[in-house]
Amino acid sequence: MARMAETLSLDLGVEYDAHIVTRRQLDRAVERCKSCNDPDGCAMWLDDHSGGAREAPNLCPNKPLFDHMRGGW
Ligand code: SF4
Repeated sequence: MARMAETLSLDLGVEYDAHIVTRRQLDRAVERCKSCNDPDGCAMWLDDHSGGAREAPNLCPNKPLFDHMRGGW
């Protein structure tokens, strides 16, 4: 999750401090990451986007939350 946030140029601490996301939303996102169905696909996508990306991939169960945070810009 941290690597995905970094790839999307998101600082989760800043998002939290700005009340864009709640502690509960972040905790649930971490749980979704731990039980992700496609960690290998995620790793490949992250390798392919090491220079950064504007959106999380569709395969990511946390995409709606990442989109929400990116939408706060
Ligand atoms: S694709 Fe899965 S492992 Fe990767 S950031 Fe999203 S939830 Fe986490």
